Amino acid sequence: MNIGILGGTFDPVHLGHLSIANAAMDQATLERVLFIPAGQPRLKQAEPVASADHRIEMVRRAIEGNPRFQVCDAEVRRPGPTYSVDTLVELSAKLGPGTDLFFILGMDVLDQFDQWKDPERVLTLCRLLVLDRPGERGFDWPGFYNRVPKAKDRVQIVTAPLVDVSATELRRRVAVGEPLDGQVPDAVAEYIQEQGLYLTAREGRRAS
Ligand code: ATP
Repeated sequence: MNIGILGGTFDPVHLGHLSIANAAMDQATLERVLFIPAGQPRLKQAEPVASADHRIEMVRRAIEGNPRFQVCDAEVRRPGPTYSVDTLVELSAKLGPGTDLFFILGMDVLDQFDQWKDPERVLTLCRLLVLDRPGERGFDWPGFYNRVPKAKDRVQIVTAPLVDVSATELRRRVAVGEPLDGQVPDAVAEYIQEQGLYLTAREGRRAS
């Protein structure tokens, strides 16, 4: 069984995340995609802005009605910085043999892959599904494979339509009172409003 893993801060989850999960599901024939909100991402020290409970709830609302998408709280339960390798070890043990894990990530994240904890071990635990988005500036594949030779036969490219949205931009919009313009599912927009999230969001400051 092929299981996709989509890690991120999801602060908030948006249509870009759902688009890459759908593209990965179709193109890598995944049974399920697990959305795994990060606790304290090591490479994004200024985030997250919203609490883990809020970020989990937003993902839950965003994927409601799609039984092949699930939210997993493994990373927010672990104290300290979040390392994907620990999550992959935990999931492999839990799901057992017969499960192949596929880590879904954008090229912006791939670019930092060699700074992850134990990238070699990550590549023995999962394959990488890398999103190639139309309009994306060229990625330096030869440079990447030089830095991470083991990745050569562990990367699969997935294409997804460009959804020009980032969580940073969405937080900025809420903070200045601009609409979210259908860039998050309605249930997520309603939750942000109900809970008063991101009203004072500035990088590095917790609004909740
Ligand atoms: P931030 O703006 O706070 O950095 P983000 O919108 O990039 O957040 P993350 O939760 O950090 O969201 O991203 C999780 C994963 O989703 C990463 O692999 C990232 O490359 C990918 N991703 C984020 N936004 C998009 C998008 N618009 N289209 C495709 N992939 C995306």
